[in-house]
Amino acid sequence: MRQYILIVEDEADIAESLRYNFEREGFRTLIAESGEKGLRLALDENRPPSLILLDLMLPGMSGIELCRRLRREPTTKKIPVIMLTAKASETDKIRGLEIGADDYITKPFSIKEVVARIRAVLRRVDSETVQKYEDDKLSVDFTDMRVYCEEDEIKLTRKEFALLTYLTKNSGRVATRQNLLDNVWGYSYFGDTRTLDVHIRRLRQKLGECGNCIETVVGVGYRFVGNR
Ligand code: CA
Repeated sequence: MRQYILIVEDEADIAESLRYNFEREGFRTLIAESGEKGLRLALDENRPPSLILLDLMLPGMSGIELCRRLRREPTTKKIPVIMLTAKASETDKIRGLEIGADDYITKPFSIKEVVARIRAVLRRVDSETVQKYEDDKLSVDFTDMRVYCEEDEIKLTRKEFALLTYLTKNSGRVATRQNLLDNVWGYSYFGDTRTLDVHIRRLRQKLGECGNCIETVVGVGYRFVGNR
């Protein structure tokens, strides 16, 4: 089945060039020139998009606001969103990721890069249904809740296991502290993020030789990089 990519972009020439290239790559496309239309198309259950490419600066409803709305709606909250942004500052990127965007691309971009990022995000979404993570040293069984580092079983608490699972399933991607608190602690956590840092430290210690699979992204959060 060919997948729909929803392009929410008010600049017609950019939207058209994206459409042309995506269709050449075998995707089907939907174009919305405003956030309001984007929301309508995203909610259309006859043609649910597999991914949304969302411009940040839109007339009317902004990209940030649309992304928030998409994350609130049950039918759209799992659709991956890649933000297109002309703003390149770190705070804008973090803000985009914290409201639930999966990735962001800074304008001006090359079409080749956009296509590669779309494929990477779609692959990651597919891998979310897998039962197991494995690399040269580490193995995490999501259903049996068992973790092995070089054949030795690692005993983790439920929270540590949930943390490792979230990081593993988002391999290669920065998980901000707020992402981790929201997804692992299961509620909006406005308190002290030291709780999280303490859990990460303990998790790394328990993982021993495999502890380096979790990288610190200074000032932002953590990233699972695996063991190579
Ligand atoms: Ca724009």
